[in-house]
Amino acid sequence: MYLHAEQLPAGAVLSGFDLCIVGAGAAGIAMAQRLAGSALSVLLLVSGSPGERSRPDPARQALYGGTTGDFLTQVDPDFLQRSRLNMYGGTTNHFGFWARPLDPADFMPRPGYRAAGWLFGLEELRPWYRAAHAFGRFGPFNYDDMDFWQRVLYARPFPPQPGDKLQGAIMRAQYDANLHDFQVQFRDALKNSANITVLFNAHLLTIAAAENQRQVRQLNCSSIIDGAAGKPFAVRARAYTLACGGIENARLLQLSGALGNNRRDQLGRGFMLHPLLTNAARVRFERPVASDIRNFFREQQIRLKPPAAAGGAYEHMVTPLVNPELVYEYLMFNAWGVLAPRQETLLQEVIGNFRVILYFGADGKSAIVNLNWEQLPDDSSRITLDRERRDPIFGQPVAHVDWRLNDVDKRSAARALELTLNYLRRQGGARQEMITDVSGGARRWTFPPAAGALETGDHHMGALRMSASAADGIVDSNARLHTVENLYIAGSAIFPTGGYANPTLTIVALSLRLADHLKALLG
Ligand SMILES: Cc1cc2nc3c(=O)[nH]c(=O)nc-3n(C[C@H](O)[C@H](O)[C@H](O)COP(=O)(O)OP(=O)(O)OC[C@H]3O[C@@H](n4cnc5c(N)ncnc54)[C@H](O)[C@@H]3O)c2cc1C
Repeated sequence: MYLHAEQLPAGAVLSGFDLCIVGAGAAGIAMAQRLAGSALSVLLLVSGSPGERSRPDPARQALYGGTTGDFLTQVDPDFLQRSRLNMYGGTTNHFGFWARPLDPADFMPRPGYRAAGWLFGLEELRPWYRAAHAFGRFGPFNYDDMDFWQRVLYARPFPPQPGDKLQGAIMRAQYDANLHDFQVQFRDALKNSANITVLFNAHLLTIAAAENQRQVRQLNCSSIIDGAAGKPFAVRARAYTLACGGIENARLLQLSGALGNNRRDQLGRGFMLHPLLTNAARVRFERPVASDIRNFFREQQIRLKPPAAAGGAYEHMVTPLVNPELVYEYLMFNAWGVLAPRQETLLQEVIGNFRVILYFGADGKSAIVNLNWEQLPDDSSRITLDRERRDPIFGQPVAHVDWRLNDVDKRSAARALELTLNYLRRQGGARQEMITDVSGGARRWTFPPAAGALETGDHHMGALRMSASAADGIVDSNARLHTVENLYIAGSAIFPTGGYANPTLTIVALSLRLADHLKALLG
């Protein structure tokens, strides 16, 4: 059912729900659609309006304004507005669903490198990863099946050499807006579901908790009318999930009296991105690299026919689809290979995980090295409130994001590049030219607009990290706040570590897992 907050009477109290999910981006929509048809009565608060595509209403998007620390301002002064969208579907409205699960080593603590680790491994998450993977109509969940990928990409990775530190890994992407815009893909399922109420133009302002701060009593919300604060209303449910993105989730808890903070004041700390050097280096090979090796690194459209019976093989469709009707019978997505450390390499090296995309020139003899890597969760990289600056509609303090990289992160980038260049040298890429200078300490980078500048990546992780004890993080293994009995977090803010994989597949897997947990708990 659809409702619109501006049509509620001022001061309305919406109650009787089992669960209220706040935010309808990747995480919130994943949860709501998983709960559609269940016995739970679910209210989904959507800040935007139905039918809105690609660009949010500017007044609403202005709520995402904020301030940035010195370092982030140097790297990307427009980061807060550019890297997220305040609308139905959230930031899925401008992504291409690049997808890959985290690696097994990403889940583990890494002695000597970092203490933080997930409270479960890849195996625990696998069933939900499979379900998340289906969101992109990505076909078989077989990222490690290199025989399959060599066949469908008409490709092979570089020939293995003794002592290789790197290996090929597979990425996928889904550019069909009917799939990657989650509000488009799941709109009808949510609208038509008897147990889901979708409330549009609904903005959470603060979370009101009982005096002992252990139980949420209600959510204080408002609509927006003509670009100004509209009618206030409240929501009461048995349980609540914040799914407002990796920055707003932390801000909303801070606006609610630092709800869920721990003794070590870790609310908002440990904020991570996937730093990126688009033009890290150029490598020239003595002779053109074989075309099937270049094919491995080339993003290609893959067309698969699903098996007729469960357990059967996927058939690879080679020729272009001429009959448009057939498009719906086939799975169509993009895939390509990257270079990444072998798992043993990653465990030996005291650095973050990383991936390298190679962009070959037309002559096949030169390639640009594009590096994305994992940063260390560090308490000094944090989200706080800027109490000097207020949002233009509700007058609440804006977010202040003080993203920092430390010396380990710098070493990770420099060593990742060194491993990559060594690997490519052994493959005949002996003439190498650094485009980005990665010498020096944590604050020394090439900044935009220079070539080879550091970029942020757009993945907001870690500010409400999952931990075994309340002393070490904000949520438990079920994404519930350690200190609040009925409040959960969906999204990448709970990631204790981020690997190099784009986060949304993992966000959706965790959200589906949380939905199943709440179904069992509240049902
Ligand atoms: C240009 C770009 C490209 C990207 N490409 C990829 C990619 O290829 N692969 C990938 O994995 N990731 C990608 N990402 C990241 C991806 O978009 C995010 O990981 C994902 O959208 C996060 O999902 P989320 O639900 O946590 O947050 P969001 O999708 O941002 O959704 C948050 C929702 O909460 C709502 N909200 C916020 N505040 C409130 C409030 N106070 N009250 C009510 N509702 C509120 C917002 O309106 C929004 O609907 C990309 C990001 C960008 C910027």
